[in-house]
Amino acid sequence: MYGDDIASVLISEDEIAAKVEELAELVAKRYPAGAPEGDLLLVGVLKGAIFFMTDLAKKLTVPTQMEFMAVSSYGSSTSSSGVVRIMKDLDKDIAGRNVLIVEDIIDSGLTLSWLLRNLSSRNPASLEVVTLLRKPDALRTQVDVMAVGFDIPNEFVVGYGLDYAERYRDLPYIGTLDPKVYGG
Ligand code: 5GP
Ligand code: MG
Ligand code: MG
Repeated sequence: MYGDDIASVLISEDEIAAKVEELAELVAKRYPAGAPEGDLLLVGVLKGAIFFMTDLAKKLTVPTQMEFMAVSSYGSSTSSSGVVRIMKDLDKDIAGRNVLIVEDIIDSGLTLSWLLRNLSSRNPASLEVVTLLRKPDALRTQVDVMAVGFDIPNEFVVGYGLDYAERYRDLPYIGTLDPKVYGG
């Protein structure tokens, strides 16, 4: 539906579904149902993580609640500076809760490390991260991630929540964008 904007399918819809099930099993093992901290609190980072978060929640065998945050990172459009502004904060206090940040992709890891510092200052009982995708640069940063779906090459990807200029989020798969789209 986007003509020939998509250069290649990197991860198919079926591959994503299988991975989400795998990640859900892994996550459920860490968070027994009926914990004194209450239901596991998924914190989704808007907007990229929405598809992953809802699919993951549907596959998790423990009860979850959902909160969303929107952050924007200062810097150029292609690289983040690590200076982050909260565009939409959580609606609820997370003190004493088991919090799992659900991310779409970790590139430099700067946004996520800022988010981890910010949320841990609110005194959750625990704070972990699950990300669907991770790029090579992320391995150089000190961000501790509980679970990663796919390690992908250092290419710009779209689909399954990930955008370019707010487009392509609705694709059911993850693909690479033809360079002509961003003027390459
Ligand atoms: P970081 O702070 O880890 O460098 O930036 C992470 C954020 O950059 C992601 O949440 C996402 O919004 C954006 N990003 C990084 N790589 C990609 C990519 O390949 N495709 C898209 N659509 N966004 C990306
Ligand atoms: Mg993100
Ligand atoms: Mg984006």
